[in-house]
Amino acid sequence: MRPELFEAGAALVPGVALWLSYPRRSWAAAVCLGASLAVGGAFLAACPSSSRSGAAMAAGAAVLGTILAWRLCRRREADYAAGAARLEEVRVQRARFGSELARLKERGQSAEREHRETMAVYGMVKSLAEALSWEDVRPRIEAAIEQYFGAGSEYAVYVSGLRDEGEVRPLCLRGLKSSPGSSWATLGRLLQEQGAAPAAPKVFERPERAVGMPIREGQELLGYLYARVPEAAASQAWLVKTQAFASELIVAFKRVKLFQEMERLSELDGLTGVRRRGAFDRRIADETVRAKTFKTTFGLMLLDIDHFKSLNDRYGHPFGDQVLKRIGAVLGATVYDTDFVARYGGEEFVVLLPRAESEGARRKAEAIRDAIEAEVFSIGFETVRVTVSIGLAHFPRDAATPEELVAQADGAMYAAKSGGRNRVVDCEALRRR
Ligand code: GH3
Ligand code: MG
Ligand code: MG
Repeated sequence: MRPELFEAGAALVPGVALWLSYPRRSWAAAVCLGASLAVGGAFLAACPSSSRSGAAMAAGAAVLGTILAWRLCRRREADYAAGAARLEEVRVQRARFGSELARLKERGQSAEREHRETMAVYGMVKSLAEALSWEDVRPRIEAAIEQYFGAGSEYAVYVSGLRDEGEVRPLCLRGLKSSPGSSWATLGRLLQEQGAAPAAPKVFERPERAVGMPIREGQELLGYLYARVPEAAASQAWLVKTQAFASELIVAFKRVKLFQEMERLSELDGLTGVRRRGAFDRRIADETVRAKTFKTTFGLMLLDIDHFKSLNDRYGHPFGDQVLKRIGAVLGATVYDTDFVARYGGEEFVVLLPRAESEGARRKAEAIRDAIEAEVFSIGFETVRVTVSIGLAHFPRDAATPEELVAQADGAMYAAKSGGRNRVVDCEALRRR
């Protein structure tokens, strides 16, 4: 081989080694080194001695170049590995930031949602605080539900003692077509079938996805909220949401009930415990309308204590008060819950007997007269008995208006007085005379 060719090859070897080994193939540099050493050795063996020194230098340069290329390569390899590690680190960090960002975004959205719900609840609490009757509360609850649960939500809010004590009736009802939640009777059956009590929160999975939430304070069940769970929502999450809402209803329900109780108490006569005159006036007006509308009848009893003035004079007013109180209690105990007893004034009482026939009213009046006569009052060592005179009138037989009916009963009562007291007189008997 010609030395110039070998020198040119030797000069090329580092370049080829560098090119081959870039970026990370240091094995290629090692191969080039091996090849150049092998070719160099062969050449030295074959070359004439005159050109050996130049060829040896060229071979040495090739070897050196290759070693340099190999070292450079190693360094690059280390740099590359460090770069890759750094890149990986950056990638991991970017992923972490990404998920952190997503979490923050999610948190922001849920904070916004919570804020909206809190504002809805706050608005509801504010609006409910002003309501003192069920009629007032109803539209406010409906508006609050729409805001809190969303438009189109289907629900029923039940209230115990809405009209009658111990009875549960719907206050608000929306949607729930052919749902067991649409009536308290079917809801009660569903709860029973599923072994659940109305006093505990309940998730219904069948016959539809719904939640049931008691509105209760301590042991007292004030009401019940039944709500269908929307398709996109999870039942458990809806239960929690409903619970927060129901807890705001407790105060409102309690307030209305207390107000009702206050009104009822203010209708009661402080001494005798029966209703006051004003309550009677309202009730007889209602009863007249009802009897006219439904073509029913009712009886009215006007009752006056006999010789009450002399009782007062003889035994004192406090004793007279005791008598009035006891007579109030006897009246309350003798009539049906649906009947209505009031103190008409002084020592006069009225009793309304809805849907009573005239004969039934007369029998009831006799029973009352008997019961009062049988009462024994003691003062000191003395026992005192009291009697009453009762006038009876009947609607619509005796009058067309409440005022006329009272006047008829009053006339009958005075007839009982003049007839000797301690008796019942029906105003109809007066007309027959
Ligand atoms: P009569 O059999 O005709 O009804 O005779 P009477 O004495 O009962 O006559 P009258 O009905 O006019 O008497 C009413 C008396 O009732 C007069 C009043 O002193 C008494 N009275 C009215 N309100 C009260 C009260 O709240 N407490 C007491 N102790 N007495 C009352
Ligand atoms: Mg009187
Ligand atoms: Mg009297």
